[in-house]
Amino acid sequence: MSNVREFKTESKQLLNLMINSIYTHKEIFLRELISNASDALDKYHFLALQDDKLKANEEDEIFIELSKDNKTITIIDNGIGMTEKELIENLGTIAQSGSKSFLEKLADKENNFDLDIIGQFGVGFYSAFMVSQKVIVKTKSPYSDTGYIWESTGEETYSIEKTDKLTHGTEIILYLRENEADDEQYDSYLEEYKIKQLVKKYSDYVRYPIKMEVTKQVPKKDKTDEYESVTEIETLNSMVPIWKKSKQDITLEELNKFYQYQYHDYEDPIKAIHMNVEGALNYNALIFIPKQAPYDLYSDKYEKGLQLYSKGVFIQEKCKDLVPDYLRFLKGLVDSPDLSLNISREILQHDRQLAKIANNLEKKIKNELERMLNNEREKYLEFYKVYGVNLKYGVYDSFGAKKDLLKDLLLFYSSKTNDYTTLKEYIERMAEDQEFIYYVAGQSIEQLDKLPQMELLKEKEIEVLYFIDDIDEFAIKVLMEYESKKFKNISQGDLNLETKEEQKAIKQKEKTHKGLINSLKDSLKDKVSEVKLSARLKESAVCLVSDDDISFEMEKVLAMMPGANSNVKAKRILEINPNHQLFKALESVYEKDETEIKHYAELLYSQALLIEGFKLDDPIEFSNKMCELMVKSAK
Ligand code: ADP
Repeated sequence: MSNVREFKTESKQLLNLMINSIYTHKEIFLRELISNASDALDKYHFLALQDDKLKANEEDEIFIELSKDNKTITIIDNGIGMTEKELIENLGTIAQSGSKSFLEKLADKENNFDLDIIGQFGVGFYSAFMVSQKVIVKTKSPYSDTGYIWESTGEETYSIEKTDKLTHGTEIILYLRENEADDEQYDSYLEEYKIKQLVKKYSDYVRYPIKMEVTKQVPKKDKTDEYESVTEIETLNSMVPIWKKSKQDITLEELNKFYQYQYHDYEDPIKAIHMNVEGALNYNALIFIPKQAPYDLYSDKYEKGLQLYSKGVFIQEKCKDLVPDYLRFLKGLVDSPDLSLNISREILQHDRQLAKIANNLEKKIKNELERMLNNEREKYLEFYKVYGVNLKYGVYDSFGAKKDLLKDLLLFYSSKTNDYTTLKEYIERMAEDQEFIYYVAGQSIEQLDKLPQMELLKEKEIEVLYFIDDIDEFAIKVLMEYESKKFKNISQGDLNLETKEEQKAIKQKEKTHKGLINSLKDSLKDKVSEVKLSARLKESAVCLVSDDDISFEMEKVLAMMPGANSNVKAKRILEINPNHQLFKALESVYEKDETEIKHYAELLYSQALLIEGFKLDDPIEFSNKMCELMVKSAK
């Protein structure tokens, strides 16, 4: 028969892949056919506006019909339809140039190409063959006198014949495959609930009504306890996505309700952000910050990402390329007409477009957070307490690529205001001659506030930032400075905050007590790099400090990393307060019996370690020595 034609080679390849179920989410066939129907309605609309001969549809609609008897699903639209030529061009070939390389990539298994990507970007009409043994397309274009019927089993050939279809539009009849034992149950697609569910999942926001005859159980008249089945036509999709509405047409309440429903939360989000971006880039986005961080936010299993839609058609549940790692806690969606559902274009192009959207989105979210910080401080604090660590991680990540973007969003607890402060606020408060932004790192604010190293800074009324997250010091090392002020850990190196006289006095004392200090040094020579008289201690007797390289907290964090190198250690410098009673006690011990000093040295060092939150190598030895000393002093 002359009306039997062969598919073009590329189409054959794609069909082959479809039929041999390369792709597991077969259910997307419905999304693809509905999208085509919606496009066809768009086209008809557009032409009817320009061409007087075309009458506008009374109602644009997409119809789904299920027949259990025939095992068919039919998708009907009153869109543009196809002429015979279009049928051959559109359903017999993949015209676009990109498809070939796409197919090559697909075929090249070693390339490790992710087959699931098809599901994300659409496979079009041929996906019908994933679930069908035969597909019939009845179609009529308003520009052709007759309709045509296209038929294929998806193998080598298809046929086209005339048909008496009178109205413009397309009817696609899928003859479902036989069920596969223990595998795909194709007849599940004949269930109303299944179709309803698929339309909700993938096509809820298609802007034309998707209708289907549904069966309902209603109480019989006058008999409330007996039911009968009735059928009625139902529109399955909600059509207008709330993110497409303009900002003034949508209330916060609506946004919050949508969030709770869509993302299964029982609380409102801390923040709901609605974006309509138009211009060089086009997209709508709804972004939410959940009140509680997901319990697995920091586990490897957690999947970040936003839902991706294109023109209201759902593409992907978690598009991870839309958000950087440090914003992994965001929930929401992006809908952009710039993303085509057609694989016939190169995937790379999607990636580029997606990257542009992601970039733009990141900046907008940053601005939104900044606005929250400036105008809704309480709310920002609530946000920061849950997610601040992520922002600090953002500063640290990629060698500080994002540090300038994020540095003004950081908050740290301040010794002066007893509240969280920005770096800018710190700078504004500091004395003109102050050289550094001071910080101290440890496990809790309470612990840091009592730290011996704080004594001098408190006396001099110098503000100190308390770092209690593991990431803090690492982030600050990457940041290096803020408004040309460098950061300085008050437990590292010399602070040089004392007056000349104070310095002189310490030097003098060190000279006078050289013997004692050397004796302490000797006793601890395997443990500390130095024993010094302290300029920073006011009340306490001892403390441990490190040099300017790596701090104790960094050492601890690094030691916890997988595959940690235990050689990375902060230097240990033992500082003793020369004005403390204890120092006098040491002097007298030293004068009476120099050999006793080594016990005192051990005890002092152990105490200094404990203050810094380190574990003792030998806590039993420490306890024994303490007891010995207590017994001695009671005598
Ligand atoms: P895509 O829709 O991504 O271009 P498809 O393989 O799904 O690729 O469809 C190929 C072409 O067939 C479409 O571009 C369109 O021109 C035509 N087509 C498919 N379905 C319909 C339909 N329901 N009505 C009119 N034309 C259709």
